[in-house]
Amino acid sequence: MQEIKYQFLSLAEANEPYLDELRHAACRVIDSGRYIGGQEIEAFETQLAAMLRAPHAVAVSNGLDALRLVLRSWIALGRLTPGDEVIVPANTYIASVLAIVDAGLRPVLAEPSPDTMNLDTGRLEEYLTPRTRAIMPVHLYGLVCWDTALTDFVARHRLLVIEDAAQAIGARALMPGLFGSEMAGALGHAGALSFYPTKNVGALGDAGAIVTHDEELARMARTLANYGADRRYHNIEAGFNCRMDPIQAAMLGVKLPHTAEENADRFAKALAYIRTIDRPGIITPAIPGGVVEHVWHQFVIRITSDCGNRDDFQQRLARAGVATDIHYAVPPHLQPCFKDSLPHAPLPVTERLASEILSLPVGRGTSVKDAADIARIINTL
Ligand SMILES: *Cc1c(COP(=O)(O)O)cnc(C)c1O
Repeated sequence: MQEIKYQFLSLAEANEPYLDELRHAACRVIDSGRYIGGQEIEAFETQLAAMLRAPHAVAVSNGLDALRLVLRSWIALGRLTPGDEVIVPANTYIASVLAIVDAGLRPVLAEPSPDTMNLDTGRLEEYLTPRTRAIMPVHLYGLVCWDTALTDFVARHRLLVIEDAAQAIGARALMPGLFGSEMAGALGHAGALSFYPTKNVGALGDAGAIVTHDEELARMARTLANYGADRRYHNIEAGFNCRMDPIQAAMLGVKLPHTAEENADRFAKALAYIRTIDRPGIITPAIPGGVVEHVWHQFVIRITSDCGNRDDFQQRLARAGVATDIHYAVPPHLQPCFKDSLPHAPLPVTERLASEILSLPVGRGTSVKDAADIARIINTL
């Protein structure tokens, strides 16, 4: 097999531009003597809230916990009841579904649009039952899922909206959210972000955040994340330990101001791919309304049957020196933990997409020229 010339992702390269600042920030935390809570966390929360134009940000341990804490907070506040249904796209990363199940709620798996690969907002009524209480749009691959069909549906049925914005930091919707901000993660009643190292803005370990316009929710999430204590040794809820480490807050304090540059760097490569890939049977991603909506966490093409089998295509690309990945080859409802236990309607779009999608390198280690070269390789395969 030929050597891999085009790596899929190098985290060392992703952090390379920031190494001096990261080291400096890490030393500051080490020297501070404060390793839980404190100024690093507060500064990060202020920075993130300002960036997403929302009044509250709560720093937490990871993206999954951000989702879980929002849902559990709504239960603690009496706004949701275990057994209530939450509409969620079936082609998401499993964390979205895990959070719903973990909170004792019922995920209702909805089909994506084959064009955007986000929730098919024209089909939402299909999933409505008397127990539908919330919806979790996922901004998959960095493309914002937010349109009038969705907001009308939410208003008509008085649903709570929890955005899974783990892949979409810095993405902007084409129309305002429920509370005025246009930033992904601040569009609905609450948003969950992830700073897992491979995300567009990655910590040097696990980290996540909740963003909201709702002070009561922010307070409850903060309480639940800290053993359910609203003050020291005063536990009003049976909570968890889901705090972000100050050292991660410090790492993110370095990287967060560069979100727009990081996203622009990905966009340049996405554009090179879109302009250069020209091969019958391969579908490049659609950008429905414009570039502000998309931050290209992944650049995902579809290898349709006209082009043969996706897995074969992936192997041919590897033999040509190009590493790729699949997000995600097995959707949540077909995973061993769910396949016998999660009721759902037939999901032909989700299953077809899972067999066609292929993620091309789009991170820091890939240049615009690399992307154009990879595109030309694809055209000749
Ligand atoms: C990464 C991711 C999560 C989970 O975030 P973690 O920080 O890894 O827990 C949730 N949803 C989506 C769509 C993700 O991509």
